[in-house]
Amino acid sequence: MADNYIYLVSDTALGLAMVVDPTDAVVVERALRQKDLHLALILNTHHHHDHTAGNVKLQHDYGAPIIGPAKEGGRIDGLSRGVDDGAILTFSDLRGEVIETPGHTIGSISFYFPAIKALFCGDTLFSLGCGRLFEGSAVQMWNSLKRLRELPDDTMIYAGHEYTERNAPFALMLDKKNPALQERAEEVALLRKEGRPTLPVSIKTEKETNPFLRVDDPEFQKVLEKAGLPMDANPAAIFGSLRAAKDRFMA
Ligand code: ZN
Ligand code: FE
Repeated sequence: MADNYIYLVSDTALGLAMVVDPTDAVVVERALRQKDLHLALILNTHHHHDHTAGNVKLQHDYGAPIIGPAKEGGRIDGLSRGVDDGAILTFSDLRGEVIETPGHTIGSISFYFPAIKALFCGDTLFSLGCGRLFEGSAVQMWNSLKRLRELPDDTMIYAGHEYTERNAPFALMLDKKNPALQERAEEVALLRKEGRPTLPVSIKTEKETNPFLRVDDPEFQKVLEKAGLPMDANPAAIFGSLRAAKDRFMA
C-alpha cells in the first residue's frame, strides 16, 4: 500500500535483520538483498492485511519466526509466537517490550525497544492522529494512547502509515493557535513536498501537537469546548467524541 511503512532493523555485524509489519514481501526481499542481510525475525502489530501480507512468503523464503498479538492468533498468517502485554523479545543485542495497545483492533500491540529509543506502534498512534476504532472502544484506545504517552519524551515513534499531512488540517482546525503545531505542520508540508517521510517523530512533539494525546489537558479541553465538543470529567469520553468528529471530518 502506498502509505504503509515497513521497518527494517539490522545488525550489520551479524548480517541479520528484523522486519516490522511487512505488507509487501517483494519490497522487503529487495532491501535485504541490497544490504546483504538475512531476515531473522518478523513482527506484526496487528492482523490487518496491510501489515501482514508479506508474512507467508518471507517466512517461506527465510524461515523467520513471526511474533504478533496472541489475542489475534487465529487471524495472523504464519504466526509462530503470540505475545501478550509485558512479553520480552530479543533481536541482536536489543530487547523489545510488548505493550498491549487495543483500540484500532482488539489485540493491537506495540513494540518498544528502549536501547534504540524506538516504538513501533502500528495503527495505534500516528503523528497528529491515532488509529480508527475498528474493533475496540474509545476507553480502550484512550488507555492505550496514555500508555504510549508515558514513554520517555525522546522515544521515536515509527507508525504504520504516512498519514501526518492528512492529519494536520483537523488538528489545525481545532488548535490553530498552538505554535508547536504550526511549526510541525510547516515542517510536514515541506517534508512531503520533497517526498520525504514525516516519521519517526518524538513522543515529545506528539504530546505538544497531537490532539488525541491532549484530551485530559485542561487548557486543551477549553479549546475543544470552544470547537463544540461536549466536555466530561472522563477524558475517555472526550476522546471518543474527538475520534468520531475526526471520522466525520475525513469522510
Ligand atoms: Zn490497521
Ligand atoms: Fe494499517
